[in-house]
Amino acid sequence: MTELSILRGVVELRGAVAAWRSAGESVGLVPTMGAIHEGHLALVRAARRDCRRVVATIFVNPTQFGPAEDFKRYPRDEAGDAALLAGAGADLLFAPALEAVYPAGFATTVSVAGLTRHLCGPHRPGHFDGVATVVTKLLLMAGAARAYFGEKDFQQLQVIRRLATDLDIPTEIVGVPTLREPDGLALSSRNRYLDPEARKVAAVLPALLQDLSGRLAAGASPAPALEEGRKALRAAGFDKLDYLELADEATLTPQAKLGPPARLFAAVWLGKTRLIDNWPVPATR
Ligand code: AMP
Repeated sequence: MTELSILRGVVELRGAVAAWRSAGESVGLVPTMGAIHEGHLALVRAARRDCRRVVATIFVNPTQFGPAEDFKRYPRDEAGDAALLAGAGADLLFAPALEAVYPAGFATTVSVAGLTRHLCGPHRPGHFDGVATVVTKLLLMAGAARAYFGEKDFQQLQVIRRLATDLDIPTEIVGVPTLREPDGLALSSRNRYLDPEARKVAAVLPALLQDLSGRLAAGASPAPALEEGRKALRAAGFDKLDYLELADEATLTPQAKLGPPARLFAAVWLGKTRLIDNWPVPATR
């Protein structure tokens, strides 16, 4: 296991990364909100394969949570997380205090238009501004050659790719495929909120996306297939459906007609827990 040092300050982080880079060592960055699971560790392992050094970050970013969301009850266990990150090969954990990221007087927001118009955008007002602002800061603080993000949060990944390009941030953004439980449920820090009953219902979501993807690829008409899918999710026991959509995976605009590159996106609720997932739709043969 590598030795994991924990840094809290931006100056210290910059110093550590600068020393590695001047020694010719490439640096990969893995931003997280903690509550580390195998999905996060897949990002660390991907970074480890490409880069000599891996910096993981843990910061539960208040500005990406809505007022009624789970910021306060979000699971926090830094010591446990640090052990898992070290085991997967991280060299350094950057875990800043709130004031290190948002000092008094902080007044800047990074806002990505277009990509945030559909899917989670309208359901979580302000969420992507919070994400875009904190990720921009983390990318600029770390100065890594590459940064790793999960396809599980596909809209977030596209937003981050856009801001890095638009703001000339010289860090390559790398997407990592979604890690799933054996029954298909995407690993998520929020899965721990689910009781055994809800956990069973949750597995219907990836199964339905996979099935729907196959039907669309085989030529099913999107509008009725999606409507059937929405009904099936309600019938399976989800309490609320934010959306089930077919969208262009580059622009994230809903598609009325299947055209590559296409992907299914869903957000559903079980009690107070919101789950999201997405599934690629191969081009019709
Ligand atoms: P979070 O801590 O939930 O903000 O996630 C931190 C990073 O881990 C984000 O880039 C997520 O997309 C990624 N991630 C979360 N769950 C998974 C998963 N099941 N598979 C792959 N990446 C994931």
